[in-house]
Amino acid sequence: MAYKHISIPTSGEKITIKNGKLHVPDEPIVGYVEGDGIGPDITKASLRVWDTAVEQAYGGKRKIHWCELYMGEKAATIYDGNYFPQETLDALKDLIVSIKGPLTTPVGGGFRSLNVALRQELDLYACVRPVRYYAGVPSPMRHPEKVDAVIFRENTEDVYSGIEFKSGTPENRKVAKFLREEMGANFFEDAGLGIKPVSAFGTKRLVRKAIQYAIDQGRESVTLVHKGNIMKFTEGAFRNWGYELAREEFPEQTITEDQLYSVYGGVRPEGKIIIKDRIADIIFQLMQLRPEEFDILATLNLNGDYLSDSVAAEVGGVGIAPGANIADFVAVFEATHGTAPKYANLDKVNPSSLLLSGVMMLEYMGWKEAADLINAAFPKVVADKTVTYDFARQMEGATEVSTSGFGDCLIAKIKGHATDLVQEEEHRRAILEEERKELEAQRVADPTQAMEESGRIPQTVGAIMHPVIIVKPDELVSICMQKMREQNRHAVLVEPDPSNDKWGIMTQRDVVKKIISANRSPTRVRVGEIASRPVLMVPRGTTLLDASSRMVEANIRRIVVESDGLPVGIFSDTDLFRTVEEFGWGSDI
Ligand code: NAP
Repeated sequence: MAYKHISIPTSGEKITIKNGKLHVPDEPIVGYVEGDGIGPDITKASLRVWDTAVEQAYGGKRKIHWCELYMGEKAATIYDGNYFPQETLDALKDLIVSIKGPLTTPVGGGFRSLNVALRQELDLYACVRPVRYYAGVPSPMRHPEKVDAVIFRENTEDVYSGIEFKSGTPENRKVAKFLREEMGANFFEDAGLGIKPVSAFGTKRLVRKAIQYAIDQGRESVTLVHKGNIMKFTEGAFRNWGYELAREEFPEQTITEDQLYSVYGGVRPEGKIIIKDRIADIIFQLMQLRPEEFDILATLNLNGDYLSDSVAAEVGGVGIAPGANIADFVAVFEATHGTAPKYANLDKVNPSSLLLSGVMMLEYMGWKEAADLINAAFPKVVADKTVTYDFARQMEGATEVSTSGFGDCLIAKIKGHATDLVQEEEHRRAILEEERKELEAQRVADPTQAMEESGRIPQTVGAIMHPVIIVKPDELVSICMQKMREQNRHAVLVEPDPSNDKWGIMTQRDVVKKIISANRSPTRVRVGEIASRPVLMVPRGTTLLDASSRMVEANIRRIVVESDGLPVGIFSDTDLFRTVEEFGWGSDI
């Protein structure tokens, strides 16, 4: 492709797509747009850091060949007043992977914003925002280090589609009339109106990307965030299509959270990704209280907009948060802040947002070792308190350095301590892994409690059952009583015996009725004699509604959960009560 002002480096090769995967040569050509205002300062500093990390990680075997592309004010000077040249768009597609600084929105340029135009032109439908903590960064949280999530926000649909009708206009009146007269809708006079389109296509391509990312990066779960309890056909549909996509396209790599409890007893099978969902408002709370439970979050446009900034604030990173907008393959990584024009060309601001977007870019290219080096060097520099003005004003005893000075400090760390830095990054990941294992142990020990705390809404009996105590029929009642007390259980299951091939149950009530009030000794009676048989058994996947109906019909208080004919758990009316009290029921949820 011939370009007028862009010169594609003659050394280096283009990134391509082969067999549906990104193919990155050892010396790829990567595009960059330096951006307006503070853009040139932060770009210059970051380019040096990225190059050093690549050089150190691969000992010169890999190298990025940078290709400058133009947008914004610099483009306007080169392309005769055009802020958004077609050839830049062509090059972004052609090179596939690029990174950009912030851009000023030209006044009267006919754009809502250059960034929005870019997303629309390249159909960059996934806005990806990783949020993790770097030691030393000022944060309002007690344990910000537990946050390590990546938010995939749908970028093209939802209430951001721009289908709005201003109050008092003829268009508004026309739509209002249609809604009232033909659809039976009821709303106040003169309401402004907006439409919220959410499609299966838009949802599935976003969720597909989130799941693929989780697979590629060895993550544990993908959470579908929605407000489906209220907006069933948009937000609820997002959740349903998300699960459907996982079932249809990733059946081998994923399990649902429901299966995690009902089939796997709370233990994640090695390598499987758990697909779960959470109500949007609850996720804000959970990301503060139990962030270690969440990994990849897939959200609609509006929810994701709020959530990305809120979670970034937890790690002190609104000003340094990295980001990217990605299509099927074409990806534009970018600083998430603006052009801060008052600091332009002062070599003063913090380059971290762009710098860490570059880390994402390296990961996207599969160059994890280079990304790890920067990830590990960054907290070291912050811990030394050699930081730009914005951090310096929040830290006691900090030494303020310039944008380029901050880059120099990073480069020195990367060059001086490459091996240690990689080990430290691995250590950080191992700690997070440990925390997730602890959560797993909690899920196994007390699933209902684990669900309560993790905001999950249980749907099946497998999700609310407790582990069972199984005893032989010739066991003494006194021994069983001791086991029940020690393990805080109200019942034991009694194995079938030769005279009776049915499983039995002995509850606390049986002991009161058949031993104590009958004035018998628990040290003389065998449990098989007083057990009630048969017990009602249902499969793990039985819904709570079906289970409660069975309980009422049979006039019993406990049901045993089976798998392949063997009891694996038990639940009582108390568990059902507690579940509904905690999570709501029917139209409440
Ligand atoms: P802004 O450029 O993000 O700046 C707001 C304030 O945030 C700055 O005054 C500064 O705070 C702080 N800040 C931003 N970047 C920083 C950095 N790298 N290091 C340290 N502090 C930083 O937001 P704005 O003033 O609302 O917008 C300015 C222009 O940027 C507008 O034309 C807007 O359209 C554009 N914009 C572009 C993008 C984009 O291209 N992605 C995004 C947002 C805005 P203090 O003053 O407290 O030091």
